[in-house]
Amino acid sequence: MAIKTISCVVCEVDFNGSSNAMYCSSKCKQKSHRSKSVTSGFIYLLKNKGKVVYVGSSATEKTLKARVTIHKAGEYPKCFDDYDYYKVDGDVLVDVETEEIIRRRPIYNHSLPSKTLYTTPKILSQAMISMIEDAIKERFTTYSLAGSRAKKITYIKTSDTEAVKSDILGLLSNKSNEALNNGVYQKKNKG
Ligand SMILES: [Zn+2]
Repeated sequence: MAIKTISCVVCEVDFNGSSNAMYCSSKCKQKSHRSKSVTSGFIYLLKNKGKVVYVGSSATEKTLKARVTIHKAGEYPKCFDDYDYYKVDGDVLVDVETEEIIRRRPIYNHSLPSKTLYTTPKILSQAMISMIEDAIKERFTTYSLAGSRAKKITYIKTSDTEAVKSDILGLLSNKSNEALNNGVYQKKNKG
């Protein structure tokens, strides 16, 4: 598969990988798999003058207090004068954290911890590109050359491609009309 610049679904950093790659590192892959299954822990909210400036999560009350101290004194100290926290039991911790960040938009949260509930247009596009590529290979006769390395490259007839392009464009414009009708337009008007 071709090497492309992709953004990591966990940390959103761009990296070079095959078109179906999702994670920039094994660390991010592990983080993603681990976080999906954690259903107990704590959410904490750092506040400054009553306003939530950062939302984070922690496994235990003890590690939570250590985290708060690090936020105050670490390499990039955050400005806050108070904090709150609550226990999560039975819901996926990173999903609860994600919803808090979306709702409160704290100034120190720069990305969402989970891409289960929300994704980005870029990540969605990457997934769609892989799907489109597979669908094209399935739909058309592919040609490859005989040399062992050349076999990896498949060709399709250019005269076939116009039909694919118009199909995909048609599909995309239907989808965006659907999005308009489903309230994306209204939401923008409101806010
Ligand atoms: Zn990453």
